[in-house]
Amino acid sequence: MDCIFCKIVAGEIPSEKVYEDEDLYAFYDIQPAAPAHVLLIPKKHISSMMDVKEEDKGLMGNLILSIQKIAGQLGMDKEGFRVVNNIGEFGQQTVPHIHFHLIGGRQLTWPPG
Ligand code: 5GP
Ligand code: ZN
Repeated sequence: MDCIFCKIVAGEIPSEKVYEDEDLYAFYDIQPAAPAHVLLIPKKHISSMMDVKEEDKGLMGNLILSIQKIAGQLGMDKEGFRVVNNIGEFGQQTVPHIHFHLIGGRQLTWPPG
């Protein structure tokens, strides 16, 4: 599969690891939008939120729980941070492997562009 994030999981493209378990991988975004900007992905290739299946319920639940761990590890848990999942063209998803941006380390603003 010609997918950048699958290649990152496989170690074929280098990345700076933040968290890993059997099913999940988190690494620093190459173009950080804030002092802390991490991408959290399932190792399994799922194209987007719209392709999550019933069988992925456990995986996605564990992914949410891992956000707490990563936020604690990066010291973002006290002041807060943002989790972003872009979907499709209007959502400006550029990599078609589901990923959650964890963005923090500064005061964020709302609404997004
Ligand atoms: P999207 O726009 O699809 O929600 O987010 C994709 C993110 O992946 C972008 O923030 C982009 O900077 C990041 N990204 C793209 N290619 C690479 C890469 O090869 N390594 C890392 N670490 N991040 C990447
Ligand atoms: Zn993939």
